[in-house]
Amino acid sequence: MKIWLMDILACPDPDCRSSLQLEIFKSHTDEVEGEQQEEIDEGLITCPKCGRWYPVIDGIACMLPDNLRVEGKQHDEEARFLERWKSRIPKEILTDGKPFGLVEASTM
Ligand SMILES: [Zn+2]
Repeated sequence: MKIWLMDILACPDPDCRSSLQLEIFKSHTDEVEGEQQEEIDEGLITCPKCGRWYPVIDGIACMLPDNLRVEGKQHDEEARFLERWKSRIPKEILTDGKPFGLVEASTM
C-alpha cells in the first residue's frame, strides 16, 4: 500500500466517512521511476471519529464493512493481525475496538 493513499481514503462506514490515521508497523522502500517511495507492508488504520480500525496486511488495506469482518476467514486473519502487533496497537483498540478487539485483552 502506498502512503499517499491515506490522503484519499475515508472511513468506509456510511455514517462516518471521516479521514483516517495510519500507524506503520512494517514498510519497505521501492524505487519507482528513480524516486524512492515508501510501501507499507503492515500497519494499522484507525478512524478517530467512530473508533473503527482497519488492518494493512501484506501490503493491502483491508477496509471492509463490519458484517464481513466479524466472522469467517476474514475475521481469523484480522484477529491474527491484532495478535501479531498487539504490543504496538493502542490498548483501547485491543479492548474496545470496532468492530472487534482482541478477546484475550483482559489478561494483559
Ligand atoms: Zn469512521
